[in-house]
Amino acid sequence: MIARLIAGRRQPDAVAVGPGDDAAVLLAGDGRVVVSTDMLIENRHFRLDWSTPHDVGRKAVAQNAADIEAMGARPTAFVVGFGAPPETPAEQVSALADGMWEEAGRLGAGIVGGDLVSSPQWVVSMTVLGDLDGRGPVLRSGARPGSRLAVAGQAGQSAAGYTLWHKGIEGFDDLRHRHLVPQPPYGQGSAAADADAQAMIDISDGLIADLGHLAEASGVTVDLGTEALSADRDALLGAAEAAGVDAWTWVLGGGEDHALVAAFAGPIPAGWRVIGRVLDGPARVLVDGAQWHGYTGWQSFGAR
Ligand SMILES: [Mg+2]
Repeated sequence: MIARLIAGRRQPDAVAVGPGDDAAVLLAGDGRVVVSTDMLIENRHFRLDWSTPHDVGRKAVAQNAADIEAMGARPTAFVVGFGAPPETPAEQVSALADGMWEEAGRLGAGIVGGDLVSSPQWVVSMTVLGDLDGRGPVLRSGARPGSRLAVAGQAGQSAAGYTLWHKGIEGFDDLRHRHLVPQPPYGQGSAAADADAQAMIDISDGLIADLGHLAEASGVTVDLGTEALSADRDALLGAAEAAGVDAWTWVLGGGEDHALVAAFAGPIPAGWRVIGRVLDGPARVLVDGAQWHGYTGWQSFGAR
C-alpha cells in the first residue's frame, strides 16, 4: 500500500531524501524549522457520508498549513499517520493521499513520510514543517494599542456549511464544500510578516474565540467592527434564511475557515481587509465597542 501511495509523486526541491528510506531528509533553508501537528478523527472532525476521502486529505493538509501560515512561515513538507479499519478499500486510501498531494501541491510542499496502521475508525494525524525564509516568527503576543486588525480570507463559511449539512439543506454547494475543504489564504501569512504584522492567528475555533486568544497573549482589547464584516455576512444571508440562523453567529462564532487575522501598525498588505482595531485595555474582544453575548466558538472536547 505504501509503495502504491508514493509511486509517481514529485517531491519539491527541499526534499533531499523522500519516502522509501527509514526517514526523510529535508533542506531547512532558514535554519529554523516551524512545526505543528493536528489530528482528524472520523465522526468527530469529519464524516465519510459527507466528505470523500479526497476531501479529508485536502482538509488535513489545509488546516495544518494554516497554522504555519499564521506564524508568517511557508509550509514545506508534511508527514502523516493514518489509521483505518483493515477492510478499507485501497482506492479510498489512494484517494485520501491524492487529496493530500493536491492540496500540498498548491503550497509547493510534499508529503515526505508517514505510517499506516489498522484502527477501528479513520484517524489522520498530520505534522507539517515550515520555513521562515529569514523572517521573524509572527506570534500571538505582539499586538499593540493603536494598531489595526485585518483579515485575509472569509469568516463563517465553514460554519454555515456545517449547519447546512447538519440540517440536510440542499443547495448552497459552495458553502457545503467549504465546510469539507477549507480554503486558507495561502501565501498571505508570509505577506503579513513582510508587512511587519505584530501578531497573527488563523481562525480555527471562531473569529471571536481566536481573537480572544490573541487579545489574551498580547494583553490588549480587540474591537471588531461589524460594518467591515458585512460582506462576510451578506455572503451567508441566503443560507442563513434557509437554516433559520442569524448569519452573525456564523461570521463571529464559526471556526474552521482558517482565514488569517493579524494586527498591523503600518500599511495593510494587498489581500487583507481591516476589520477592527487594537485598544489599550483588559484582554477581551468587543464587537462595535460592546461585549458580544452570542455564541463565540467551538472548543475541543466540549471544554467550555
Ligand atoms: Mg492555529
